[in-house]
Amino acid sequence: MSNISSLPPELRAELLAVVGPTRLIEGGETLEALSKDFYWYSPVLERLLGTKVAAAAVRVSNLEELKAVVSACARAKVPVIPRGAGTGNYGQCVPIHGGVVIDLTPFDKVLEISPEGWFRAEPGARLATIETEARKIGWELRNMPSTWVKSSLGGYFCGGSGGIGSVTWGGIAAPDNVKSVTLMSCEETPRMIKLEGQDANPGLHTYGTTGIMVEIEMRLAPRFDYDQMLFSSPDWSKLLDWTDMAARNMQWSKRLVTMFQDPIPTYFKPLLKYFRPGEHVSLYVVDKNSADEVVASAAAAGIDCVCRLRFSDPPKPPYLSDYTFNHTSLWAIKSDPSYTYIQAGFGENFREQFQDLHAKFPGEIVFHLEWFSRRGRLGPGGKPGGDGVVVGGIPLVHFVSEARLQEIIDYCARIGVGVNNPHTYFLEDGGHHPDIEEKRALKANLDPLGLLNPGKMRTYPFNPFAEAAELSRTL
Ligand code: FAD
Repeated sequence: MSNISSLPPELRAELLAVVGPTRLIEGGETLEALSKDFYWYSPVLERLLGTKVAAAAVRVSNLEELKAVVSACARAKVPVIPRGAGTGNYGQCVPIHGGVVIDLTPFDKVLEISPEGWFRAEPGARLATIETEARKIGWELRNMPSTWVKSSLGGYFCGGSGGIGSVTWGGIAAPDNVKSVTLMSCEETPRMIKLEGQDANPGLHTYGTTGIMVEIEMRLAPRFDYDQMLFSSPDWSKLLDWTDMAARNMQWSKRLVTMFQDPIPTYFKPLLKYFRPGEHVSLYVVDKNSADEVVASAAAAGIDCVCRLRFSDPPKPPYLSDYTFNHTSLWAIKSDPSYTYIQAGFGENFREQFQDLHAKFPGEIVFHLEWFSRRGRLGPGGKPGGDGVVVGGIPLVHFVSEARLQEIIDYCARIGVGVNNPHTYFLEDGGHHPDIEEKRALKANLDPLGLLNPGKMRTYPFNPFAEAAELSRTL
């Protein structure tokens, strides 16, 4: 048995009894759409995942419905794939072995926003709702993906890592950001466990393989009104030096520091009126009270501010964050489908690393950089990374072949550029998981039947749906 492509009749009857006919989707374009995410940025994942479809999808709106659906699937021994808004990039929501996709977006209440600076919410809650509500009482999200308008909280915790705000607060898993997560097991009688603080880390970014998140508590940051600004220069090195200095300046309360090498700005069609041909652009989102000082600092370095837009309350577009993180890749691929991407972390010698990559792969790599806080990162020798920021990013790569893409990734590793490979759907191959044993133990506890998103955790020793040949290849 390797693929559950239709519902066993008893399971179908049970699901119908729980969610009714309008929230059980058994075919058509809606089921196709609920079986996909944004894996198609990667030509490799497009080849591997393009035809995968679930047997059915169900939409659940509360814990009782979720429990009943999971219990029925566990009884039928059918795969269960939790899903938020489906904006993941690595086929995280794609059902490798068919089964039932559970759309959690209607399970979306923001349960509490504390004046003390934290919130509690259901997994389907949209990050935009939490951000808007938190801002009303003087707080904001510490970090959120550039998809914050659409993404769910649970999807961010299980599929994402950081984004807007991470230049100050680090990623989701950085110390003190997560207050708690409550996970539900996938069994005939589902159990709940609540993991607090850093104990929750093994359950983060595990693609829904280690339990279903049913409630999340996260700490908030003090709210700022921001100026969203674009800075432009034809001189890459000059703009890089200034942007790096601005990212490291701890006096300026900032939410986003991003840099785009020419021709990336030309792909941002709605912003073209701000740009000058042939120039590189930096994006800087900073407390409005520091914005004049930031502009003056850039001017002193010979760099022009070409756009300045306020972000205040209630939040409303335009959001310049719509051009950052994996939105940058999206704009580029829309303009030139030959692009794909890698996710890179550069060293303190990032200037030399850029030169090295340009020399080795001329014209093939175009730099898109993002600055991150070191909070919670490990430095050399596995020691805590300390204060300050690091330069990472999502460089664009002109796709030639899978072999060439691998050559680029391997070369990055040789020169000390860390790559989180976005061209695999295996959790372990896509990033660094020093706590993989804890993740496996959590999965063994909460998914004893191996039904949660099977096929995504490569080193989990048992996947009841894998063919024998596939098992021997992947273990
Ligand atoms: P989904 O894609 O629906 O799910 C993601 C994973 O979580 C899946 O494996 C799913 O099975 C699992 N899951 C969902 N809900 C639960 C639950 N309650 N319990 C257990 N498992 C669950 N990511 C970033 O980190 N930062 C960024 O800045 C960023 N920018 C992006 C820009 C674009 C244009 C795109 C396409 C993607 C970007 N991403 C980014 C990736 C993605 O948007 C985020 O990870 C997002 O937060 C995922 O939320 P979602 O609700 O869409 O989750």
